[in-house]
Amino acid sequence: MKERNVQLNSHTKRGSARHQHLATEKLRLWDLEELAQLRGALLRWYDSQALQLPWRQRGGRPDPYQVYVSEVMLQQTRVKTVEKYFMEWMRRFPTVEALAAATEEEVLQQWAGLGYYRRARMLHAGAKWIVAQNRGKIPASVRDLEQVPGIGVYTASAIASIAFGAVVPAIDGNATRVVSRLAGMCCTNVWKGDGKRLLAAVASELVDANRPGDWNQAVFDLGRSLCTAQVTEEACAVCPVQKFCRAAALPISVRQSTPYGVAEISEGKLKLQRHMPRVRARQELLLAFVLVASVAPHAASDSTETLYYVRRRASHGLLGGLWEVPNIVVERLPHADPHPLAQQGFIEPEEKDGGVSAAGSEVFRQLAAALNSQKSFKLSVVSITPIPKMVRHLFTHIRQDIQVFRVEVTGNPCFLDDGDQGRWVRAIALEELGLSTQMRRVLRAAGIPLTRKRFGDASTATHS
Ligand code: SF4
Repeated sequence: MKERNVQLNSHTKRGSARHQHLATEKLRLWDLEELAQLRGALLRWYDSQALQLPWRQRGGRPDPYQVYVSEVMLQQTRVKTVEKYFMEWMRRFPTVEALAAATEEEVLQQWAGLGYYRRARMLHAGAKWIVAQNRGKIPASVRDLEQVPGIGVYTASAIASIAFGAVVPAIDGNATRVVSRLAGMCCTNVWKGDGKRLLAAVASELVDANRPGDWNQAVFDLGRSLCTAQVTEEACAVCPVQKFCRAAALPISVRQSTPYGVAEISEGKLKLQRHMPRVRARQELLLAFVLVASVAPHAASDSTETLYYVRRRASHGLLGGLWEVPNIVVERLPHADPHPLAQQGFIEPEEKDGGVSAAGSEVFRQLAAALNSQKSFKLSVVSITPIPKMVRHLFTHIRQDIQVFRVEVTGNPCFLDDGDQGRWVRAIALEELGLSTQMRRVLRAAGIPLTRKRFGDASTATHS
């Protein structure tokens, strides 16, 4: 690779005229021959190594709706997880019209377990917009795609290039890492300002005009498999574009800090910070109450059936619109504790596996009173059993320890049903509601037989 006289860092902190110039300037980090070789090397690698994914169409243009759905699902979620959800999604909503015609509840139920539920709501809103405003046709250009609710510049670029052959780079986290390393932008903050504009200019220069969709997916695959955040010498040694990579000549520690290395200009000098400060997840203790009622279906009946109480969360915010059992966040914990429930006084320290303290009993009393006050009929609490093993659930920014209580109640057959506010349902109906992975774990911990397994149930979830 020939050395070019390009001082990437020197562009930082210039005026707006310079910004305009940077966005369109051909940086010429590689000459035309090198560029052709670089593109060829990565596309050959992609052709031989690419993941076979259901939304990827080899030798033809993929279905725009499938690309749209896959791109939304892939945001902050692993490919392996998305693959399974994608197949089920396409069976349930095979076209943009089918998705637009679904209720929000059906959409959330199908999304349940994938996390970041706002994506599902925006995908639904986008499908409705496309059907209503564009006769069911997914727009083909980046500009038109950005008119669709929920589609930002990255998703628009990905759809336009993969499904319609638009020659534009799709710059997500993976592409940012790969491109900044290829260009050797190790000391530049590539997430904002001039650094971001420079990165976009380099990415535009790199994109292959004949196969832009494959190029963008190849960059994604490279960032996911070899050019990872913790890239290794071994990975670089087998990287198809190592010959053209400016970062490959730098110490591995610098390569690993890219693009997380941040340059700050201070008194005219460039100061390198190797790592972005990490945001620590806050810790919460959640008390979750699984109310289980054994009731006779009607007054003359000898047999009983089992019902469970659920309510719907407000449509905005964390897990918005999903169903849950009653729960309370009792404290935000400053740091981990082996048994936070004892720390909060809800059980006595010596009774970790059992007894509920006076404070805990008061919570239950209030809960039962609230339920009974809503209608004229009465429910009586038969027993309250704390489940000995806490449920641990991770969101991106919250680490929850969940103490689950199984609350057995009894009452007459005229049961509470306030729609979304709260309703009693059979186990089979629980499956039809949109339940988050967090709530499915809570219900399972309380011994509720959920038969339909969702993909995220088995492992610790890391999404909201
Ligand atoms: Fe990334 Fe290493 Fe390949 Fe450069 S050589 S693109 S740092 S994997």
